[in-house]
Amino acid sequence: MSVPKSETPSVIYLDNNATTQVAEEAVEAMLPYLSQYYGNPSSMHTFGGRVSRKIKEARANIAALLGAEPTEIIFTSCGSEGDNAAIQAALASQPDKRHIVTTQVEHPAVLNLCKRLEKDGYTVTYLAVNRKGQLNLNELRASLTDNTALVSVMCANNETGNIFPIERIGEIVKERGILFHVDGVQAAGKIPLNMKESTVDFLVVSGHKLHAPKGTGALYVRKGVRFRPFLVGGHQERGRRGGTENVPGIIALGKAAELALEHLEEENTRVRALRSLTYVRSLRDRLEQGLLTSIPHCQLNGHQSWRLPNTTNIGFKYVEGEAILLSLDRYGICASSGSACTSGSLEPSHVLRAMGLPYSVLHGSIRLSLSRYNTSEEIERVLEVFPKIIDRLRELSPFNSDEAEWLKEQSLVNSQ
Ligand SMILES: *Cc1c(COP(=O)(O)O)cnc(C)c1O
Repeated sequence: MSVPKSETPSVIYLDNNATTQVAEEAVEAMLPYLSQYYGNPSSMHTFGGRVSRKIKEARANIAALLGAEPTEIIFTSCGSEGDNAAIQAALASQPDKRHIVTTQVEHPAVLNLCKRLEKDGYTVTYLAVNRKGQLNLNELRASLTDNTALVSVMCANNETGNIFPIERIGEIVKERGILFHVDGVQAAGKIPLNMKESTVDFLVVSGHKLHAPKGTGALYVRKGVRFRPFLVGGHQERGRRGGTENVPGIIALGKAAELALEHLEEENTRVRALRSLTYVRSLRDRLEQGLLTSIPHCQLNGHQSWRLPNTTNIGFKYVEGEAILLSLDRYGICASSGSACTSGSLEPSHVLRAMGLPYSVLHGSIRLSLSRYNTSEEIERVLEVFPKIIDRLRELSPFNSDEAEWLKEQSLVNSQ
């Protein structure tokens, strides 16, 4: 079986929290199931049975990555589906409870669903974070009532990489016997997860964030937790998600999970795992320190240590994030600003806003997110061009003095 290989455009890809390169091993694993082995895993014949066995293998691999049982895994089409399915299932199982607790820094898959649920009559508490992006656990405890159906908190933030203390949050949630949903999309494959030793009821994974193809995902549902299917149909996924399985995608996701676990376990297999997470962290630290020390007027957004090993988010004062991105793009460097360009007006990231960062930092913030496919040559190249880009943009910027920034902050305050 040969597939014509076209050249990957030569880019320095530092946007791995947006999506990742599919692992070559995952592509290889899925290919036969796109062509030769097209049987339906639900069929009685041996041809379908072969496919069914492969899905079983993939389920075991995802379960191993999460420290869960294979029967606790449901394959989904994406992280957003997992979040929607988990939250709706939790609410459906307790129709008399009408209150949800979440945070202001969740992914839109959770935030926008919560907004819709508010329209449907639910009350939602959106917990605030401090300047470093951390929750106040006393506030969390105080927000819980007898009417609270669910607490939904992300494990790691996609924009800052900040990690919430899931175990401590879980203890507080379980003191009140409340269901606990965790968006684990950015955490899976980047930090160790162990559902057996946790109090998490639902955990969400997305394939394309961990080197599997887009359109794949998994939802962990703790054994014994009631689950009403989000997608109603056949008996697939033991009756918990209808629809014929995305067989090639599931097989690739299983392979990606297996690889992710190997890279997580690098402490034991240091010699084998050339591109370990320690390696990713060291590249990230080199990049971050290099930028923070060579460029004036910039700061790290988020918490220094409670953070994913692959993510850095830096605010560069007196420059627009979009201008930085466009300049980086000219050098083939892919990054992200976290801003959402809605209806022509540039809205700063809701995550950085929730952290209460000043106007100048909000508008000039850049997220750089690495993977095990990055190299130190790439990082050195970025460190070479980045300071020049900022220098040039600041020369052009009308807001290159403290006075101008002060005026801008004043006008913002006055217009509120
Ligand atoms: C990307 C992401 C999602 C959504 O995953 P999709 O597979 O793109 O739907 C949800 N939560 C977080 C934290 C994410 O980063």
